[in-house]
Amino acid sequence: MDYNTTPLVEVEGLQMHFSMKGGAFSRRAGVIKAVDGVSFKVFPNETFGLVGESGCGKTTVGRAVLKAIEPTGGKVIFDSKSGKKINLVPMTSDELRPYRQEVQMIFQDPYSSLSPRMTIQEILEEPLRLAGHTDKEYLFEQAKHMIEQVDLRSSHLMRYPHAFSGGQRQRIGIARSLITHPRFIVADEAVSALDVSVQAQILEILAELKDKMNLSYLFISHDLSVIKYICDRVGVMYLGRIVEVAETDALFHRPLHPYTEALMYAIPDINERQIRSDILAGEIPDAANPPPGCAFHNRCKYATDKCRTEVPALREFTDTFNGKEILRESACHFVEDIYYKHDEEIV
Ligand code: SF4
Repeated sequence: MDYNTTPLVEVEGLQMHFSMKGGAFSRRAGVIKAVDGVSFKVFPNETFGLVGESGCGKTTVGRAVLKAIEPTGGKVIFDSKSGKKINLVPMTSDELRPYRQEVQMIFQDPYSSLSPRMTIQEILEEPLRLAGHTDKEYLFEQAKHMIEQVDLRSSHLMRYPHAFSGGQRQRIGIARSLITHPRFIVADEAVSALDVSVQAQILEILAELKDKMNLSYLFISHDLSVIKYICDRVGVMYLGRIVEVAETDALFHRPLHPYTEALMYAIPDINERQIRSDILAGEIPDAANPPPGCAFHNRCKYATDKCRTEVPALREFTDTFNGKEILRESACHFVEDIYYKHDEEIV
């Protein structure tokens, strides 16, 4: 992966704040910072993962990046096919229309996005029709091509969604998302609803299509084993912020933020690494009333007085992994200490 090239997507200081109105007898008025200054880059042909406990804001980031919800601040810079870099955040739906085909989403539950009254052919052709294509032969050829790309047969095009298993429906959902030849895909818990054996098949298809179609994914999951399998780099989220970013192998080899470390060590078997808030010590703080200083301090075994008052910035750290220098990021005051602590453990 070439990290010196121009990113396909640059998310800068993304915010999704919700105001909370207290009732006549409630004192709970204020602002919930569901996403609070999230920044990351996704490079061409890269899979960037977002992982964290339920409620950390990762799904909100995915939806805000694609403008399925309106971010309340920040930028999403997209390097469009035309060569123009555009900021999606202030754009209206009409302004976004020319770029809609370039960015797509894969959902956790494809069944809800597959109309039960349409054949698979109609379902696959629909995004092309919406993009203005009318030639029947072209539409059929594209549908046939895409259904084969997800390892289903052209004879399946005549059937209806109910005739398929959950895994097959997810393949159809993927074919539909990719039929307009997008370049950037947000996949939100795309395999979470499936059995482990089916998950593996879908992940393999996604990985193959990434290379064949030169795709980039923002891959959102609470499952560390899925993240480890498919992602090139990972951002770890906690209470609306990214607390660590690293190449996947380096992150799993040596986490540099105490939250990532806690996630990994709380669940020793990688195949069981579904993130469960109840496994980590302590409660996730209330997003409407986050603690001062580092938001993780009430659950962190390394916390000091400084952590209770000063918010740690996400800062770069140079690691040496597999004989090469790599840049990582961690939002911890004591990242250097944690790095060398691991060194002692590894030696
Ligand atoms: Fe823990 Fe302090 Fe680092 Fe936060 S800044 S993760 S509380 S050591």
